[in-house]
Amino acid sequence: MSSSVTFVWDERLAGYDFGPSHPLAPIRVELAVRLARDLGLLDLPHVVEVTAEPATDDELRLVHSQRYLDAVRRAGENPHTMDLLHGLGTDDDPVFVGMHEASALVVGASLAAARAVVSGRSEHAVNLAGGLHHAMPESASGFCIYNDAAAAIASALATGVERVAYVDVDVHHGDGTERIFWDDPRVLTISLHESGRFLFPGTGFATDIGGASAEGLAVNVALPPGTGDEGWLRAFDAVVPPLLASFSPQLLVTQHGCDSHRLDPLAHLELTIDGQRTAYAALHALAHAHADGRWVALGGGGYERVEVVPRAWAHLVGEVVGRPVPPQTAVPASWLAYVTERLARRGPVSMSDGPDPVLRRWTSGADHDDPLDRAVHATRMAVFPLHGLDPHWD
Ligand SMILES: [Zn+2]
Ligand SMILES: [Zn+2]
Repeated sequence: MSSSVTFVWDERLAGYDFGPSHPLAPIRVELAVRLARDLGLLDLPHVVEVTAEPATDDELRLVHSQRYLDAVRRAGENPHTMDLLHGLGTDDDPVFVGMHEASALVVGASLAAARAVVSGRSEHAVNLAGGLHHAMPESASGFCIYNDAAAAIASALATGVERVAYVDVDVHHGDGTERIFWDDPRVLTISLHESGRFLFPGTGFATDIGGASAEGLAVNVALPPGTGDEGWLRAFDAVVPPLLASFSPQLLVTQHGCDSHRLDPLAHLELTIDGQRTAYAALHALAHAHADGRWVALGGGGYERVEVVPRAWAHLVGEVVGRPVPPQTAVPASWLAYVTERLARRGPVSMSDGPDPVLRRWTSGADHDDPLDRAVHATRMAVFPLHGLDPHWD
């Protein structure tokens, strides 16, 4: 059982809403929180539930320019103005009333999570509404206005944390967070994603390894389309544990986009809920092994809002609170009734998609005929030597 865990949730976080036809619907997170609640995961005595306050301009300026904050604020006050810059007003990032306030609240929630862990009040913390990893210092991108993950990392650094590791398992490259710490030797970013040759944002290749002051501290695993549980977990196992052991972070921040699932409508990986929960358990173990237990878990992408996001993130919450949900657990009837009432849809009845995935470990080098192994090998060749690790063997 983990010691104190902070769970950040505030009904107002559902105000981060680009409108009814946009894939990033707030109902995704609402259903995930409700499922975690209906499974009893938030009633445990060591779980502290807190609300959020919007991040201030000073806090947002940890990772964004004032010019950009002003542009977002202006756009949200007058959404029909035509002079939209900074990636605002696009199909991906349409302007909505109150956009600055809603986006600042998401950041505030991740800052609350980071503060709880860095202060030692909680060992782990989670903000399912966070993980907006595409936002850049001066522009919106990929459904992300402000980069709460980067702000959480920067706030930890500002209070004296010396090394932060960020692991991003969203199916899309965690480009904004990577960019913000590209040349910062205090931050290791690792992103496992579907290759940019096939998927937005088109970046994040093995040879992208960080700036001159931080070579080897940006790590990218560009997975081939069609990668399933076994391949994904093999890639994770071959890259993430050795680098976390080598970097020895004082804080682990993870981004849990669950759009790697086979049912996700926007991407082409083939993971199941069971592969995803296996990854969450691995990250939890790594937080204890290499970051003294200090772990901040954030949400992220995921666009199958009934079958996938709620179950994936309820498993994440179960992991963070130290009460992993057994895969054979039935989805609570109360939650299924709510889904039918809200969306007129039937929800999934089981917390699992099937059997536990088998981990095929990277102990004997790569099979160079296999695209997955070639991708993993390229990443290891690019960064392992910079960490004093042998890229060829475990
Ligand atoms: Zn723990
Ligand atoms: Zn994504």
